[in-house]
Amino acid sequence: MENTNVAEEVAFNLPYQIHYQAPIVKIEVNSSVIKAITDEVNHQKVSVSSQYGDNIPHELVGLFEKPPVAVALHSMAHQIQLAIPLVVLSSTHDVNCLIDREDSNIVAYFYDTTDGGNGASEEIGKHLPLFATKAKSLASTCDCSYGCSKCLIQLGCPQQDERLHKTVGLFLPEAIAASYSA
Ligand SMILES: [Zn+2]
Ligand SMILES: [Zn+2]
Repeated sequence: MENTNVAEEVAFNLPYQIHYQAPIVKIEVNSSVIKAITDEVNHQKVSVSSQYGDNIPHELVGLFEKPPVAVALHSMAHQIQLAIPLVVLSSTHDVNCLIDREDSNIVAYFYDTTDGGNGASEEIGKHLPLFATKAKSLASTCDCSYGCSKCLIQLGCPQQDERLHKTVGLFLPEAIAASYSA
């Protein structure tokens, strides 16, 4: 028999937090890449605005979120996370990502979700072009229009899946993959 009575309820005064140590990989972009992303996003915004006016579809709102480099990094990080099982014997949930400010720069962090690490972030750091290539093909061949849970949306995203856009996300993986195959 199973006991389903509630013995005690505890309300946390502070948001529940856990602390653990795990390897982290940081992704930074230089000023010319930031400019290229911003130009591309501005270009896309003009075409979306001319098509929809003020009634921008919900799926395209990410395009208008600021700053464009945060949208590009967050979307790419999700696309890479979802491509992890295509590259190594690890799961999408072995890694999480976080977009943050460091001084005046916006950076992306990958970190293992296991205390002590599980090796997945280190693999991304070591083989970024390979992960970028797989992320690019996964997202660009997905038959959704604006990004779905197979190619962009990430259950358990610590930033609530905000500032995501499928096409903006593909900008960096495409550039990395192109320089890798060149
Ligand atoms: Zn999709
Ligand atoms: Zn996220």
